[in-house]
Amino acid sequence: MSISPDQLIPAGLLPADGRFGAGPSKVRDEQMEALAQAGRTLLGTSHRQPPVRNLVGSVREGLTRLFNAPAGYEVVLGVGGSTAFWDVASFGLVQDKAQHLSFGEFGAKFASATNKAPFLQASSVITSAPGTRPSPAAEAGVDVYAWPQNETSTGVAAPVHRIDGAAPDALVLIDATSAAGGLDVDVSASDVYYFAPQKNFASDGGLWLGLFSPAALERAARIAATDRWIPDFLSLQTAIDNSLLNQTYNTPSLATLVTLNAQVEWLNQSGGLEFAAARTAESAGRVYQWAEASDVATPFVSRTEDRSNVITTIDFEDSVDAALLAKVLRANGIVDVEPYRKLGRNQLRIATFVSIEPDDISALLACIDFVIGRG
Ligand SMILES: *Cc1c(COP(=O)(O)O)cnc(C)c1O
Repeated sequence: MSISPDQLIPAGLLPADGRFGAGPSKVRDEQMEALAQAGRTLLGTSHRQPPVRNLVGSVREGLTRLFNAPAGYEVVLGVGGSTAFWDVASFGLVQDKAQHLSFGEFGAKFASATNKAPFLQASSVITSAPGTRPSPAAEAGVDVYAWPQNETSTGVAAPVHRIDGAAPDALVLIDATSAAGGLDVDVSASDVYYFAPQKNFASDGGLWLGLFSPAALERAARIAATDRWIPDFLSLQTAIDNSLLNQTYNTPSLATLVTLNAQVEWLNQSGGLEFAAARTAESAGRVYQWAEASDVATPFVSRTEDRSNVITTIDFEDSVDAALLAKVLRANGIVDVEPYRKLGRNQLRIATFVSIEPDDISALLACIDFVIGRG
């Protein structure tokens, strides 16, 4: 079926907000109001003085509450986003050897980071094809097990759990960049649950944050006391020391903290993770049900239990040119539903993060049907 490149979608079908990207993702208007309010009082002021330190404290407390963090867990943050955290963790958390699950772009990148570190043993990397996921397995000599809770490049979600038979002091590191604040989790099943603010937290990028268990804090201190060379900017112990004082080692983006804090407050006031997980399940369910019912679309992830509730990936039959479809949607103000660039599939990727209204997801699906002539 042919899609007309300059097709106009009737205004009545369009979603109220056309942002469905995997990150940076839709920022809610209320977050922008919080930013405007901070404009004269907080933006443009020192990050070493009480106004900004109280804001960092509010983010740390709000996240502790949102994730129902067990006693002894600390929220640690630093500048550089999740990608920087992979290097921070390679230097400051892996003692000798890491095991990684690699089932998409992001799991693979952390695996590559530890694997290249000259002071570590070669990493153990368990891979599976895009759209599927492998499981971690206890392995002698491994002191860090790492995987993403949500593989943003493919739309596969993986459970967060301890590993039977792993060394008692082995740490579980969960890349929750796109999962945190949108998927349910028991953080006590992980030692570091880390993320960046530009996905479910609907803020901007450039920060990393993590909930650290007492065992992870202890591991960081132990490695920091050895003679391993660690660049100052990537020192986890420095980040921990600063975080406990509600500061960062170097200057953070204050606007990012303001919009992050507004989102954490909104989530806590709305019912916390339970609210968030129910809302993303509702939105993702609409996408998957629509695809299951369509004669030209199918969910890319075949195992229903592996399908993510925050990132949905939908394959199209050859008769529908998904790239052209995304282009037409973009011209009509519906943006960022292109698939992950390296996946190379005839696909749309639709984020169903907590900020996105389920009814806007339904509107998007109606627009897709309209463009492909199924409306
Ligand atoms: C977006 C994303 C990253 C990268 O985050 P940056 O803050 O850009 O470094 C890492 N892991 C996952 C799972 C992601 O979704």
